[in-house]
Amino acid sequence: MHELSITESMIAIVLETAREQKAKRVIKIELVLGRLSGVVGESLQFCFEVIKRETMARDAELVIEEIPARGTCMDCNASMEAGPYDFICRECGGPLEVAGGNELYVRAVELE
Ligand SMILES: [Zn+2]
Repeated sequence: MHELSITESMIAIVLETAREQKAKRVIKIELVLGRLSGVVGESLQFCFEVIKRETMARDAELVIEEIPARGTCMDCNASMEAGPYDFICRECGGPLEVAGGNELYVRAVELE
């Protein structure tokens, strides 16, 4: 499962940060997830609940902020949300040029 390895590396990064800062526990992890990244937020949450049990992040809350991709119409230049299945301009039916949506990174970690 794709989400499992992503969750494992996310927790590894967080725990390393926690060790560097000599924290006792992890309170909150904020993750930014693009809607076109192919990663399912609910699966990440599920994997996180399982993996965190054996770590100092066992009480941590995972907050996932899903962000959409931006599309710009190549015909009429309108700007709108794009994808995951919709890459057609809603104004004129032209093709959208897509920017962003592939984000996947830890934005903030709250430690104690
Ligand atoms: Zn258009």
